[in-house]
Amino acid sequence: MSDSKFVTCEELEKQNTFIQNIKELNSLKKCPTACVITYGCQQNENDSERLKGMLEAMGYSMTENRETADVVIFNTCAVRENAEMKLRGNVGALKSLKRKRKDMIIAVCGCMVQQEKEAEILNKKFKHIDLIFGTHSLYRFPELLYKSLSERIIDVVDIPGRIAEGIPVSHDDKFKAWVSVMYGCNNFCSYCVVPYVRGRERSRKHEDVINEIKTLAENGYVEVTLLGQNVNSYGNDSENEISFAELLNEVCKIDGIKRVRFATSHPKDISDELIDVMAANSKICPQLHLPFQSGSNKVLKDMNRGYTREKYLDTIRKVKEKIPNIALSSDVIVGFPTESNDDFEETISLLKEVEYDSLFTFIYSKRRGTVAAKIEPVLTADEVEKNFNKLLETQNEISKRKNEAFVGKIIEVFVEGRSKNNDLFLQGRTPENKIVNFSGPDTLIGKLINVKITDAKTWSLDGEIA
Ligand code: SAH
Ligand code: SF4
Repeated sequence: MSDSKFVTCEELEKQNTFIQNIKELNSLKKCPTACVITYGCQQNENDSERLKGMLEAMGYSMTENRETADVVIFNTCAVRENAEMKLRGNVGALKSLKRKRKDMIIAVCGCMVQQEKEAEILNKKFKHIDLIFGTHSLYRFPELLYKSLSERIIDVVDIPGRIAEGIPVSHDDKFKAWVSVMYGCNNFCSYCVVPYVRGRERSRKHEDVINEIKTLAENGYVEVTLLGQNVNSYGNDSENEISFAELLNEVCKIDGIKRVRFATSHPKDISDELIDVMAANSKICPQLHLPFQSGSNKVLKDMNRGYTREKYLDTIRKVKEKIPNIALSSDVIVGFPTESNDDFEETISLLKEVEYDSLFTFIYSKRRGTVAAKIEPVLTADEVEKNFNKLLETQNEISKRKNEAFVGKIIEVFVEGRSKNNDLFLQGRTPENKIVNFSGPDTLIGKLINVKITDAKTWSLDGEIA
């Protein structure tokens, strides 16, 4: 295995020195705080947990209050334009605060600023930002933060990303954790910016993944979600690495881990081996996120997705056959530039045929530098919006119907905490990843209990302790 894809121990050791330097400075302050604001996907959430881990090691306590924080970091997303617009608004809003509190540090990192053009725009427009760094510099955050205390730092390098093991991490949750197994993407779907901002696929060594999960289990974690843009190509970039299905099997052997989930599978790469391992292993939750993006073969080809509608449906058939209680979810894009109304109807017919439990729906967003950005759209924005609304309506009806099938059943629920919408209720998740709200004492938090489902909504279930 080539080691060039790993950050060396010496480089990581150097970062530790910066962590200690900042810690010393912070020891002179009264309760220094930091606020990390995250946009985008689970992988970004996981990166933010590393930022928080490093910040805590430097002596900062985490806060949600940007007004008082000594360090405010925006970890950005570039997948759609609206995430970038929101970021600009939120960074702009801190201008007057920075004028009042000159010693605060404002940092912007992640996918949006890994695009040199975007970094340049932010750099010019917002002089109150102290530090800008891209996805490939995450492990160097301590050094960059230290330097930004005395000068403005812009660190966006277009180099192949590398894997940095052993960065401190502070998990948002006490019982379930995200574990990245690979980074980057080689697929270059024609609409997508991810391969440009996250670099080529690189898999962690399975020993590192397993050790991380063993440590989580020792610390009371019971659920892990393995993350990657395309987990089915795990190991393809290394000689002698085990397959993703084998990795799942190894994870299931870890004592204390009771539930295993993963995302995202690419339909062109999902293997029979993976489906079999899922079916055979009761720790792997009966849940599969398999993004189809479009139901039209023409659009799938233009998207460079590498599968047809028929092949996709064939996979779904196999999955349903082998795992009858599988809960399916997917991502879909409406308004891809070559999509006509007829193509869109094929998307509607596909989701009716599959009957997803839930769907993540997106309106196509033009991304600079991608192949699709050069194509003129065939539909107007109004037509796309109309289609989008029809998609939501169709799916909501299916989601509700799928949830109604749970009413009357007794299901094992992992209790995660108080419901965010109403703290009179506890909130938990079924193996299918459905949210269940029910009454009960705090002592149940962190436990697996049986709940009888009493009512179904579009996005969640209601129940009572069985
Ligand atoms: N690697 C994952 C998805 C990563 S991005 C996969 O291939 O499934 C998450 C989702 O964002 C994608 O599945 C897609 O539906 C959506 N997406 C990506 N680029 C987009 C764009 N330019 N416009 C709208 N949606 C987009
Ligand atoms: Fe983007 Fe396609 Fe890679 Fe997913 S597989 S991250 S949609 S390029």
